[in-house]
Amino acid sequence: MALRKCPKCELNYLKPGETICHVCASAMKRRKTAAVEEEEVVMCSNCGEAPAVKGHDLCEECLREQKREAELELMADKLRADEADMPIEEDIDEEDSDEE
Ligand SMILES: [Zn+2]
Ligand SMILES: [Zn+2]
Repeated sequence: MALRKCPKCELNYLKPGETICHVCASAMKRRKTAAVEEEEVVMCSNCGEAPAVKGHDLCEECLREQKREAELELMADKLRADEADMPIEEDIDEEDSDEE
């Protein structure tokens, strides 16, 4: 029975049942683990200092900041809309009718 050489490195002989030698197998395993780790830890695209929250581009801190800013903007828009809908004179009319 002839020994087969590892098709990857062509240096080491394969043991029965192996498709690649143990050196290549452990090297591949290391690479795979490193790739997975790289995929899991995504840095925040905004500050780049903290890991991003899963499913987001931003870290927890930046997400909170972004949410706060969005809420403030929404509130500002609402205030502007309210001001446009209700002129100040209307408030005075209401107060007059309450007193009667
Ligand atoms: Zn090999
Ligand atoms: Zn961040």
